[in-house]
Amino acid sequence: MAADQAFVTLATNDSYARGAMVLGKSLRNHNTTKKLVVLIGPQVSEPCKGVLQRIYDEVRMVDVLDSGDTAHLAMMKRPDLGVTFTKLHCWTLTHFSKCVFMDADTLVLSNIDELFERKELSAAPDPGWPDCFNSGVFVFCPSMETYGKLLQYCTEHGSFDGGDQGILNGFFGDWATADISKHLPFVYNLSSIAIYTYLPAFKQYGGNAKVVHFLGKTKPWNYTFDPKAKRISGSMTEATSHPTFLMDWWTLYSSAVVPLMY
Ligand code: UDP
Ligand code: MN
Repeated sequence: MAADQAFVTLATNDSYARGAMVLGKSLRNHNTTKKLVVLIGPQVSEPCKGVLQRIYDEVRMVDVLDSGDTAHLAMMKRPDLGVTFTKLHCWTLTHFSKCVFMDADTLVLSNIDELFERKELSAAPDPGWPDCFNSGVFVFCPSMETYGKLLQYCTEHGSFDGGDQGILNGFFGDWATADISKHLPFVYNLSSIAIYTYLPAFKQYGGNAKVVHFLGKTKPWNYTFDPKAKRISGSMTEATSHPTFLMDWWTLYSSAVVPLMY
């Protein structure tokens, strides 16, 4: 049932919180029947928290440093993995039986509730190394047991890329070969970078995109937008953002999120 299923995202600061606001609105606009949960860090300001509370069903503060639990201990051994430990916290949401994690820099373009038919751990290939999954969108089942094992894996093996994607690909190491049903179609996590690396494929299949992922250093909120002229400015030199998707993000931000701030 929908009540025990949720979309989950994470924002440790106000910049990523803006991403989470747009993501939440995009899920609502496409009439999801699932709960919406955002994990936030202590740095998120009160006004941003207020906006998130108007979009999300649950705004949950995660302070790994403050928690005094196994995550805190793991964090003391691996201080380099700060945000990663916060992301792994999503496995503690055991009042849900199944969840879909989505990075705060993703944007939903159609209803994707069918993802809940998938098993843990389902994800789409990473455009840079397709035998690894990209951890920007994944299906998982909250469980304290899995959470404990993940933290243990972190302290023992670390992360080969310094982030959550390295940990999760190590832990769910048979993803590439074990069960094809756990491979989400690429359209559920279309990173803008892939548009430029394989443009003919984008032209052929890009119209079916369900989720865009603004992966990389420059995020939509790093640009500036003139809502009257509907123009985006900022250096577009990095091939990280497709202009149409970037415009979709900003249009939603200015029409549906900004009004909640006042
Ligand atoms: N994140 C966050 N604060 C940070 C960095 C990351 O809350 O300072 C969260 C946020 O949900 C973000 C996700 O972790 O979408 C993964 O980071 P990012 O999207 O920047 O990585 P990329 O997808 O570009 O590899
Ligand atoms: Mn991301």
